[in-house]
Amino acid sequence: MKIKILTIALLFVAGMAVAQEDNKSDKMTPGMTEKWDPEISKVTPGKTPIDAPSDAIVLFDGIDLENEWTNEEGGKPGWLVEDGCVTVVKRAGTIKTKRVFEDYQLHIEWRAPAEVIGESQGRGNSGIFMQERYEVQVLDNYNNRTYRNGQAGSLYKQHPPLVNACKGPGEWQTYDIIYTAPRFNDNGTYFTPPIITVLHNGVLVQNNVKLRGPTVYVGVPEYEVEKHGPGSIVLQDHGNPVSYKNIWIREL
Ligand code: MG
Repeated sequence: MKIKILTIALLFVAGMAVAQEDNKSDKMTPGMTEKWDPEISKVTPGKTPIDAPSDAIVLFDGIDLENEWTNEEGGKPGWLVEDGCVTVVKRAGTIKTKRVFEDYQLHIEWRAPAEVIGESQGRGNSGIFMQERYEVQVLDNYNNRTYRNGQAGSLYKQHPPLVNACKGPGEWQTYDIIYTAPRFNDNGTYFTPPIITVLHNGVLVQNNVKLRGPTVYVGVPEYEVEKHGPGSIVLQDHGNPVSYKNIWIREL
């Protein structure tokens, strides 16, 4: 009996050795699947995850708005720069970046007014538009219900956020947006649609979501024949004094 067990054990070990030998005979070594070049480029991270890393373009540093932003017509933006942030001035219109972008990682901080006025879409409403067309909604949804596909962190009227991660009015909040611009077919339709991931205060609210078309207020957004190139980032004047600060972008 003992001999039988020993024999089986020996056969097993021998079998393992043959299997290993077979593997070697494939001529594969670990090094064959290691890629070394080109070396990954270095980026120095910010002091904290909300601070701009070394390869970011700072779009607003809390002081100078005119360097990177204009109003709708390309003139001086009419928003109020004060205390390290910029605040919507009612009827001054949207503001937009002078630079245009396609694919990027965008960090932006916003604050709804501490004084609570209005309800639903009328409370702390603004918005951040990718390529001047696709809105990530900014809204004070702290104890403020509205339609689910129009609340903070929604891709307005297209995709509701996964959760409501709002802080209270008067508190600074972060959006980290990863955006992939659409690619187009020759006839102008999307080959791949715009794709967005959004973290609100560090909480994932949009996970690699595809947009149907440009944001519209009335009507169903559809894949449109609307070929477009790189575009500005636009901040919306919705009449509420929403503030922004610490805006930076990394082109991808
Ligand atoms: Mg809005």
